[in-house]
Amino acid sequence: MLVINFFFPRTCINCHLPGDYLCKSCKKLLTPHPEICPYCHKFSADYKTCLNCKTDRSHYLEWLIVVFSYQNLIKKLILQLKYYHKSDVANFLTDRLALAISTNKALSEKFKISYVPSHRFRHYCIKGYNQSKVLAQRLSEKIWLPWIYTAKKTRSTHTQAGLNRSQRLSNLENAFQIDAQKIWESDTILIVDDVTTTWSTINELAKTIKSQFPKVKIRWAVLARNNK
Ligand SMILES: [Zn+2]
Ligand SMILES: [Zn+2]
Repeated sequence: MLVINFFFPRTCINCHLPGDYLCKSCKKLLTPHPEICPYCHKFSADYKTCLNCKTDRSHYLEWLIVVFSYQNLIKKLILQLKYYHKSDVANFLTDRLALAISTNKALSEKFKISYVPSHRFRHYCIKGYNQSKVLAQRLSEKIWLPWIYTAKKTRSTHTQAGLNRSQRLSNLENAFQIDAQKIWESDTILIVDDVTTTWSTINELAKTIKSQFPKVKIRWAVLARNNK
């Protein structure tokens, strides 16, 4: 036992049972998210963009897997990852992410892994941590596929929460700039993120990549989707 565990014994973040950060029975409370199309939210096997939504040219994503239904417990776990940088939580969440990806039949080809960039100011001065990057790097180690940069965030944007749809879109306009020495036209890129409130960030980053590499396939995987 680590000395630190003796002084600060670990307890389940949900039911406070001593032992682990998440006890066995609380792990079972995490339920998978239903398979839906990322745009119209109707049922779509393997989370693929449905044929109907594919015809809309402002839709840049071909696939978006959501690992968990958004409940209090996954919210708590993501907070632990985001603000307390808990390594074992990151490990557990990456395991589940890897499982969801490897069992998804729509992703049969090899892919490169990437993440949602944060602005340098935000990254170093405010949070010091980009949880999307941490997930991408850990996933890369787990499933033995490379991770790459795709874009830089050129300016700091307001957080998307509390903005309406048109404010969200203008908030993000030209926020990303391609930064890609390792992207090829034949690539499939899987971008991972912790949680998504709207598709606007996702769509803007996908649009930026597609503007330079129109043939690249962009897939996305998030731990949870906040549908409030
Ligand atoms: Zn528990
Ligand atoms: Zn659809």
